[in-house]
Amino acid sequence: MTNKKDLSAKERIKKPRNEMLLHDAKERIKHFEEVPLGYTWEAARDEAIRCIQCKKPLCIEGCPVTIDIPAFIKLVEEGNVNGAAGKIREANFLPAACGRVCPQDKQCEAVCVVGKKGNPVAIGNLERFVADFERSENLNRMPKIPKKTGKKIGVIGSGPAGLTAAYELCMKGHEVIVFEAFHRGGGVMVYGIPRFRLPLDIIDEDLKLLEEMGVKFYYNMIIGKILTIDDLLENEGFNAVYIATGAGLPKMLGISGENLNGVYSANEYLTRIYLMHANHFPEYTTPLFQGKKMAVIGAGNTAMDVLRTGKRLGAEVTCYYRRSREEAPARTEELEHAEQEFINFKFLSNPVEFIGDTNNFVKGIRCAVMELSEPDESGRRKPIPTGEEFIDECDTIVFSLGCNVNPIIVDATPELHVNKWGIVMVDNKTFHTSKKGVFAGGDAITGGSTVILAMGQAKNAAKYIHDYVTGSFNYELEVPTDPNTPGIEWSGRFAKGKR
Ligand code: FAD
Ligand code: SF4
Ligand code: SF4
Repeated sequence: MTNKKDLSAKERIKKPRNEMLLHDAKERIKHFEEVPLGYTWEAARDEAIRCIQCKKPLCIEGCPVTIDIPAFIKLVEEGNVNGAAGKIREANFLPAACGRVCPQDKQCEAVCVVGKKGNPVAIGNLERFVADFERSENLNRMPKIPKKTGKKIGVIGSGPAGLTAAYELCMKGHEVIVFEAFHRGGGVMVYGIPRFRLPLDIIDEDLKLLEEMGVKFYYNMIIGKILTIDDLLENEGFNAVYIATGAGLPKMLGISGENLNGVYSANEYLTRIYLMHANHFPEYTTPLFQGKKMAVIGAGNTAMDVLRTGKRLGAEVTCYYRRSREEAPARTEELEHAEQEFINFKFLSNPVEFIGDTNNFVKGIRCAVMELSEPDESGRRKPIPTGEEFIDECDTIVFSLGCNVNPIIVDATPELHVNKWGIVMVDNKTFHTSKKGVFAGGDAITGGSTVILAMGQAKNAAKYIHDYVTGSFNYELEVPTDPNTPGIEWSGRFAKGKR
């Protein structure tokens, strides 16, 4: 193994990046086990050596939860993984999840100086290595909980935004109760992101830690139906409420045949499988019509998850996308993993009709063949129909066109300002909504975004919720009222990207 002392900064920059080994594609499509195998000790230390310990580390600015990246990497290099784990935990409550699913290429790694001449330091892989080591060695993760303040805060939703807010508020001594509509916690990390990218036990261990810290979880509690925000604030003794309900309402295509049997939104398809175990019907009671020939509409990351899930359930799977591969919004790595897994891609194909049989089951898809126009002023090439069409047979269709915010809470809380897309409007600095004592964060205020952006916002909001409940909230609030105002975007220097 190379010793750091033997290497100059120049030599370290020249060292090749350590990539993680992957399960072989032919084998991995037969199961739901995680695809990347993780670093060995040797690979982790060798990768840590590539970090040149910048005096002004841009990578920290690229991380929405501002992990002290050079500090934890140095500890890995020195062989002190326990110390590295502690360093990461100072800033990030969900490191094992973030190391796996963060779009690092758009965030911390996008600005790593080593990446200017070659490949950036594999910060996400190292974070994953440290978090996995921490779990496998059963290192003590329980933080020191401060004295109770007597203030009670309700968190609605148990996705990354809700869990991070719960952690941060608990660490400030407040009583925290999380209300979750489903029967278990984790949000999209559990019922959207597939197990072969994010194993379930990782989320469960973090939920358990929160419970051990004293956070209470009330499941099967739809706020807006069973209890309202007013109930919590006026009758149940809560001092503040944090809305972290995500963006789980699928956008529809609006074409003929959308209501046929065998047609699903990506959300419904993935939730049936990963939350309700429909692939084990009748052992579990939720059914799923999983056909043999599956068509998936869209080429974003969620579409890749659906394609790869369908493949693992034995279907022949085809992706239909109206633009070309170059414009596909999925991360390159996810697109490549899908291609390795023998998934068919029909680019420049725009579905115009889902065709049903006499029993209203889907039996085919009609698509317009598209071509790309010259780039317009924005530099984007628009897909335009060529006039040609084709029909493919299929018995399951899943469409993945993004999601809007679910209106349940908003409908039950008329004082909340929302924009014309239903996104909850908040004050840019404090995350306070237009209703007194109610804060919001995560996908509910951005529209579909990322785990780490939801967490970054929750961390920030927790500071202001603390100020609010302790009586030091003296801020001029500016909550937009114009329905054309877009959802909030991460205001950090680099990480503007949505998924
Ligand atoms: P969510 O995770 O959506 O959690 C919201 C929670 O609130 C849910 O548990 C919901 O049941 C609950 N809830 C909703 N309404 C109520 C109510 N009225 N009362 C009580 N509870 C309620 N991001 C990445 O960074 N990397 C990825 O690889 C990635 N892959 C993705 C794959 C898929 C298939 C999808 C759909 C998304 C993916 N994302 C990914 C996006 C990421 O998961 C979200 O941006 C993130 O989960 C948002 O966090 P959140 O806490 O705001 O909301
Ligand atoms: Fe990078 Fe995400 Fe880890 Fe931050 S949490 S260091 S953005 S991988
Ligand atoms: Fe290390 Fe890259 Fe961060 Fe510099 S920018 S400290 S090289 S990870």
